[in-house]
Amino acid sequence: MKITQEQFARLTLEEAGRLVAAAELSALDLVEASAARMDLFEPAINAVVTRTDEVSRRRAAESAASPGAGGALRGIPVAVKDNLMTRGVRTTCGSRILENFIPPYDASAVAALQNAGAVVMGKTNMDEVAMGSSGEHSAYGPTGNPWDPGRITGGSSSGSAALVAYGGALAALGSDTGGSIRQPAAFCGLVGMKPTYGRVSRYGLGALASSLDQIGPLTRNARDNALLLDVISGRDPRDSTSAAGAETAAPCLPGIEEGVKGLRIVYDPAMLEGDGLSPVMAGGVRRAMNIAAGHGARIAEAAVPLIKYGVAAYYIICSCEASANLARFDGVRYGRRCGGGDVWDVYSETRGRGFGDEVKRRIMVGAYALSQGYYDAYYLKAARVRRKLSQEFARLFLDADILLLPVAPQFPRRIGAKAGVMEDYLGDIFTLAANLAGLPAISFPIGVFDGLPTGVQAVAGPFAENILYRLARTIEKNTRLVGAPWTLAGPKEAK
Ligand code: GLN
Repeated sequence: MKITQEQFARLTLEEAGRLVAAAELSALDLVEASAARMDLFEPAINAVVTRTDEVSRRRAAESAASPGAGGALRGIPVAVKDNLMTRGVRTTCGSRILENFIPPYDASAVAALQNAGAVVMGKTNMDEVAMGSSGEHSAYGPTGNPWDPGRITGGSSSGSAALVAYGGALAALGSDTGGSIRQPAAFCGLVGMKPTYGRVSRYGLGALASSLDQIGPLTRNARDNALLLDVISGRDPRDSTSAAGAETAAPCLPGIEEGVKGLRIVYDPAMLEGDGLSPVMAGGVRRAMNIAAGHGARIAEAAVPLIKYGVAAYYIICSCEASANLARFDGVRYGRRCGGGDVWDVYSETRGRGFGDEVKRRIMVGAYALSQGYYDAYYLKAARVRRKLSQEFARLFLDADILLLPVAPQFPRRIGAKAGVMEDYLGDIFTLAANLAGLPAISFPIGVFDGLPTGVQAVAGPFAENILYRLARTIEKNTRLVGAPWTLAGPKEAK
């Protein structure tokens, strides 16, 4: 049996796995269908920075040649964000400064996918160095939202979200420092998981802010997402922040059909009344609550007042860590070298031409906030807010299992409709807290409004990803995503 690009786009990971295991489809059939779908959509969407068709075909052929071998993802086309190192394949982090960088090794999460048999089809577009929430800060151009190509996908995992939403790959990995998996997942009608800090190895992830970064899956349904997280979770001696809980945490797929009966789900009514929040997004949270209640969850109110300080704390901490992490790109050891005079000329030309505006802004903010005399006023204060927020969550999860909240306050705007820098930062208000506290958080679709998908977010205690998936799965069974791009024959026109 061959498969058309249209049939391919609707497959779940589990269906594809069964077809390959039963030898009804070969890995090569899947790779060809994935490539055909990308040929059709990429001109309108720009989700992929580097395609790896030839390497993918070779891998697919290898997998076909050893039919006995194979893990859960055998022969299945996936994609990874372009800040995950891929051996022998260009890895740009969305930046000019790494335009020609070819890593000599694979990130641990990429290796885990490949060990399970997955075929990586390409490297997905992203905001430069994962800074941003729109996908417009990529040096390789913005990514169009497959639901309406004139709109942003969200970011920074813009390409991973768009590619999975149009069905170019069956799943993708992103990274999330302050919302970069969850927000584009919500804007593109997907499930996106930001795992507990330390559950997935960060080895081989181009760092934005090392104490906040986590890698996680973007998929079209909850089961696929859980399957993928189970594949990439685990302790890794090459990441010093890899947590013991990564070994002992409950796997996510086995219990996913258990439902939400008896789960204690809380929400903060004050959070749903804020000025800047679209009533549709607040309505999405209420709808999720009602569905969960109808399936036996216990709903209660709770106050989480410190979440609103997350923006101020995050943008200091993130910028401080980023300014330190990016210091290595000097044109000597790392980064495409520019300038030719003395060493200062090389530094300033390399960094001046290699980095975009948002990256420069954060390096300057971070270096300033860490400088002598300002460290206490900015960095230390932000670190204290972070600790208080973690304590607030720890108290909350003594009496509750899950906190429900919006993902983004508004619908995705049109590409190029200039929002101010602060507006974009403020749009992260609901997603930053989970990173600051190191907690798992999932975003899942709750419906379609005026042709655009809307999402809801759920946060749980450390390593409780499994209950987040039970909720997402329950909601999914009671939600229809009319007009989803993965069901279309070809790309939509920008409205
Ligand atoms: N939007 C946030 C930022 O710009 C989060 C980005 C991320 O999660 N990588 O920093």
